[in-house]
Amino acid sequence: MISGPGGVGKGTIVRELCERDSKLAVSRSWTTRKPRVDDKDDSYFFVNDEGFNKHKDKGGFIEWNEFLGFMYGTPMPDFNDARDLILEIDVSGGRQIIEKHPEAILIFVDVENSELRKRLSGRGDKSDEIEKRLLEAERERKEAKEINYKIVLNDDLAKATEEIYKIIRKV
Ligand code: ADP
Ligand code: 5GP
Repeated sequence: MISGPGGVGKGTIVRELCERDSKLAVSRSWTTRKPRVDDKDDSYFFVNDEGFNKHKDKGGFIEWNEFLGFMYGTPMPDFNDARDLILEIDVSGGRQIIEKHPEAILIFVDVENSELRKRLSGRGDKSDEIEKRLLEAERERKEAKEINYKIVLNDDLAKATEEIYKIIRKV
């Protein structure tokens, strides 16, 4: 599981990890939030509340959570897939997964708030949105420590990606 504040670089790191190792795959979450300009075509399945709730009610998510007013959920994985699945989810989702799958690896990517602010504003977030995300980041940092997330600082992309690869592959 890769968690961390919005804009910290999770998506960028996960894409690099999957390019580097073909035995890694990333789960594509469902969300009710609207697409942002920086979203890639395959960032999410974008659905409305009704679509999300229908899937939730039939047990289609292994975990789900509400984050800043929108729903996010991980579709039930194909456990026959031989690849190792990376979930890019929030800490509350991480908590739900570790309860069901204690063997899962929890990684929290972080960077100092001043840099986070720059990255969020660089991707076009409005200032009230940035403040909400920074507050959420504080809350998640505390929760991540409580459940033994490994903390990785993404001040340098290549270094952070390498560190996470080593944790995942235990090398
Ligand atoms: P997240 O998935 O955590 O919301 P993204 O992967 O979309 O974050 O990254 C947010 C922005 O920060 C992108 O513009 C990305 O290129 C940039 N970024 C990621 N890592 C670094 C880094 N180490 N240094 C500078 N910019 C970075
Ligand atoms: P964003 O809006 O920046 O794409 O995502 C907001 C937060 O929701 C991030 O912390 C992201 O990791 C998390 N998130 C994305 N997909 C899921 C998911 O399927 N489940 C949960 N619990 N969180 C998710």
